[in-house]
Amino acid sequence: GGSSAVQTDLLRARMRLCLQEHLWEFYREKVNIPVEEQATARRAALDICAELRVFLHAKLPDMPLREMYLSGSLYDDLQVVTADHAQLMVPMILEKNLWSPVPGEDTIMNVPGFWLVRRENLEYFPRGSSYWDRCMVGGYLSPKSVLEVFDKLVAGSINWPAIGSVLDYVIRPVVPSETLTLEVQYETDRRLYVDFLPLLVMEDGGSLIAKPHRLAAERHENLWRQSFRVAETARLRALDQEDGGCRCTCLKLAKAVCKLNAALQRLNASQLTNAILLLSETEGDWTQEVLADRFLQLLRSLVGHLEAGRLPCSLNPKVNLFCELLEPEVDELGYTLYCALSDPQGLLRT
Ligand code: GDP
Repeated sequence: GGSSAVQTDLLRARMRLCLQEHLWEFYREKVNIPVEEQATARRAALDICAELRVFLHAKLPDMPLREMYLSGSLYDDLQVVTADHAQLMVPMILEKNLWSPVPGEDTIMNVPGFWLVRRENLEYFPRGSSYWDRCMVGGYLSPKSVLEVFDKLVAGSINWPAIGSVLDYVIRPVVPSETLTLEVQYETDRRLYVDFLPLLVMEDGGSLIAKPHRLAAERHENLWRQSFRVAETARLRALDQEDGGCRCTCLKLAKAVCKLNAALQRLNASQLTNAILLLSETEGDWTQEVLADRFLQLLRSLVGHLEAGRLPCSLNPKVNLFCELLEPEVDELGYTLYCALSDPQGLLRT
């Protein structure tokens, strides 16, 4: 009857309140990184970036690059748990008349969100006309080959022990690493991983990064990955600013949960950000008081996207952000999140 319905409502309300309290406690104790720790990590990254700039200018003055810069969650106040990684962006300059980007959906691979970069006008401007021709494979600019060039330099010819001792860090290239990564030990118990990330800026402002497609390596070897990170992060932040919402908090909670639970480590910041952006299209209330509801809704929507095998990128719905997951991974993620729906606090006990 009516009274038992009221009791169920009350019980549900109390459970929500309880989850809400646990989420905030988890946020304060685990997710949030002390300001001082963030500052020290940023300093270490900046020191390395400065060294690399000097080295590259001196050693390869004719390599067509724009100034390198640091980026990633550490700089957007979206890093969680420990301040332990950053990306060093290396923008490459390509001659507009010699190289043209081809969207993945227009190629036989048919993968939206990935691009080929084709060498043009070889008959008038033969091989060698562009500095980056050395990284051309089968008529296309190969991100793998670009990474190899930097790998030889950064891992092979820089005296990191010497630089490290000057800066008072222990620096070593991580081997093997799919992207080029430096490990910087900047305090006895603190490590920072800096990914070296070459990128191309297209004429429409979009950017392509040299981060290989995870699957079918051979076939996809020449593909550049389109990055939506700047735009999607800005969008999330702007929405929160408009209504004082808790989307970024919700994102950080989800990121921490995925970082701390082995079964969820395959979910990345971009997938979580887009799931929240998609949820924001139908859900208008993101006030701090409904954090627990939105967090649960996020988990539920992820289960739905996993079941469908598809998470559309909110900035380009043709892009499936789950396209690099293997079937058993999709199953494990879906199962773990589905179980978490009935015991969300279990996710916080790590
Ligand atoms: P977090 O690593 O989970 O804290 O999330 P971030 O938001 O810092 O994302 C970093 C990841 O996004 C790395 O794996 C990068 O390779 C990838 N990524 C894609 N595009 C970009 C970009 O434009 N900048 C940075 N910093 N990372 C990008």
